[in-house]
Amino acid sequence: MSKVKEFKMFINNEWVNSSSGEIIEVKNPATGQVIATVPKGNLEDVDKAMKAAAKAKETFKLSPITERIELCQRIADELEKEKEEIAKWMTWEQGKPYSTESLPEVEESILNFRNAAEDIKHIDGNIIYSNDPNKKIFSVYEPCGTYAAITPWNFPLVIPVEYVGPGLVAGNTMVLKPASYTPISVILMTECIERAGVPKGIFNVVTGSGDVVGEGLVTHPDTDAIGFTGENITGKKISSVAGLRRMLLEMGGDGPQIVCDDANVVEAAKEACYGAYMNAGQVCCATERVLCHESIKDEFVEEVLKITSDIKLGDPMDATVTMGPLNNEPTAQKVDRHIKDALEKGAKVLCGGKRASGFPTDLYYEPTVLDDVVPGMIIHDEETFGPVIPITTFKTDDEAIEIANSIKFGLQMAVFTSSLKKANYYSRRLRTGNLGINASTCYWEAHQPFGGCPGTDSGYGRLGGKYTIYDMMYIKTFTVDFEKCK
Ligand code: NAD
Repeated sequence: MSKVKEFKMFINNEWVNSSSGEIIEVKNPATGQVIATVPKGNLEDVDKAMKAAAKAKETFKLSPITERIELCQRIADELEKEKEEIAKWMTWEQGKPYSTESLPEVEESILNFRNAAEDIKHIDGNIIYSNDPNKKIFSVYEPCGTYAAITPWNFPLVIPVEYVGPGLVAGNTMVLKPASYTPISVILMTECIERAGVPKGIFNVVTGSGDVVGEGLVTHPDTDAIGFTGENITGKKISSVAGLRRMLLEMGGDGPQIVCDDANVVEAAKEACYGAYMNAGQVCCATERVLCHESIKDEFVEEVLKITSDIKLGDPMDATVTMGPLNNEPTAQKVDRHIKDALEKGAKVLCGGKRASGFPTDLYYEPTVLDDVVPGMIIHDEETFGPVIPITTFKTDDEAIEIANSIKFGLQMAVFTSSLKKANYYSRRLRTGNLGINASTCYWEAHQPFGGCPGTDSGYGRLGGKYTIYDMMYIKTFTVDFEKCK
């Protein structure tokens, strides 16, 4: 890749530069090279995009559902044709391995559009009893209207698609703001949406910073509803300015995998490594902590170290490489900070623990295993977002539950045990939106509901399948008095 490609934004079915002419450079974290530029959108661009979406919403919401179904199917067909090209750019902008992560992410995105086209057929209304024999009451689902979606860099395509498929099929008009580190996958998807024949104004993309474009979308008077996936701190900022707009918030996690005394240790170690090292740990449902029973700790650690030593760090376009670089310097600095704090407070490095040397950039991180991690260390209490397995030892199931629930997040957890009774005991007590039983924290399927537990910082609403369609629509209730009808 030598030439820097110049991409544009998509507003009212036109490819445009920012009205200020400013741009953002997109760098390949694996090489440090600038690979592309995108417009640095501003409030004028936000206004144009949101006004286009507002103008189109009355017609789009009245369009036959079959037209929206066919639109999603055509988008999926177009994405299918561009699968390899999009996956390549995803690896270049994000750093995840091409064949084992980027290509599957594009495939999952295609499936999401196809699922949306199918799921909308099963969004039923309700007939509700009426006390008045002359009346019938019923409810139907209606689109929210104009929908602003704001998305992160760790899954540059599938997270945007988790909003766009359900959003469009439900009849919302949309403005999407992708993360500035990884806007290109979304722009390439938008080319597919254009080729699929999306009518004017229905789908718009504005690239730019979170505090200008993101906040501009959240507070725009024409924005009816907001979908946000990202950090809990950003989600809280958004909630504080969004007023009464409908919101779906998907935020961070710090899920432990709990390994009980009766667990299959080999399986537990395999899943912990998968959950902690996928996408170099930059996954909301990553295995951010392991709570391990003292009686099987040594065996578990031995297995984890064996698997970790087989990780091949390097160029994510190389098919033999299993882990690429971290996406950006602030994330790498966060990992440095969390490890440093843990070591200062008494944790031990069993392997890794620092940035890897001998690579084109400073963003490659050694897969790391830490022992003697306890609550109160930042690595235990906060989301780290790097390839780290922090291990905490426990003696009793109740102690494990207390430690698991002691943090502010409640997105994903996992329990490894051979006892159904024990699995049930844990499942009733763990404060989490998603729970793996002998399955990694880092497991999801496109159609399953995924999201946080109330009372935690992980958000609310559900991404995945028909559950997102419900979250992107509202219930309209009708009362009909037949006596007064002709
Ligand atoms: P981030 O919060 O920094 O950014 C997310 C998006 O919000 C970006 O597009 C950013 O530009 C925008 N933004 C930033 N400030 C804003 C503001 N003031 N107003 C409006 N928008 C603003 O998050 P990130 O670093 O891109 O992503 C990593 C985080 O996302 C992690 O915490 C991870 O756990 C979380 N995440 C959650 C899920 C989930 O499904 N729960 C999935 C993936 C990632």
